[in-house]
Amino acid sequence: MMPAPLLPSDPSDLARAVARLREAMHVLVLTGAGISAESGVPTFRGPEGLWRDFRPEDLATAEAFERDPRLVWEWYDWRRQSVAEARPNAAHVALVRLENRVPEMLVVTQNVDGLHGAAGTRRVVELHGSLWRLRCVDCRQEQDDRRAPLPELPPRCACGGLLRPGVVWFGEALPQQALFESFTAAQRAEVVIVVGTSSVVYPSAALPQAAKSVGAFVIEINPEATNLTPIADVSLRGTAAGLVPALVEGAA
Ligand SMILES: [Zn+2]
Repeated sequence: MMPAPLLPSDPSDLARAVARLREAMHVLVLTGAGISAESGVPTFRGPEGLWRDFRPEDLATAEAFERDPRLVWEWYDWRRQSVAEARPNAAHVALVRLENRVPEMLVVTQNVDGLHGAAGTRRVVELHGSLWRLRCVDCRQEQDDRRAPLPELPPRCACGGLLRPGVVWFGEALPQQALFESFTAAQRAEVVIVVGTSSVVYPSAALPQAAKSVGAFVIEINPEATNLTPIADVSLRGTAAGLVPALVEGAA
């Protein structure tokens, strides 16, 4: 069941955000699990993320994959199947409309569900990789495979090597190119929109901070206060599917 969209507590906050967005030539959008919640994508953290009594921390590591690639793949296959049924929601769609209007926009997401791309957003940096990407542990070639379930577990590369999920695991560094692109966009952005992330994990607080330090206007959309709230110029309290379209339509 989808939660009803909440309205912002102060309408003048939305108006201020709309006014800044309307003028912006460069926009950076940072999204987290909150934007996908209304598409029915589980967070895979906390009780709903439990699978056969394993915690994500016990499966999403290189060590776990080395020990038991089939077990790790069974978990990812289960996740891929649950995400395969999810569709982009009004927030994803509104960001496509915004991208069509702003001269330069980049979406940086912590999500691995591929929903921004599915909605039609052209420039997306997937900081934590994608459930739909597979990478060979031997030849390192990457491929996209949207079949869910996968025909064979664990899947194998044409070279005979094991394929691993193309996601960033616990203890692994974020991809350098993705970080570089994200911070470059932060340097240029006049407006940063942060949607549905608690802003606890690096770099989801560091990116808006970097943009703000060179003058960007920071808009936060989240049902609750987060680590980012103290530095946000406007915090809109509510769900992504309710507030992102309101912001984008207002600025059109
Ligand atoms: Zn290979």
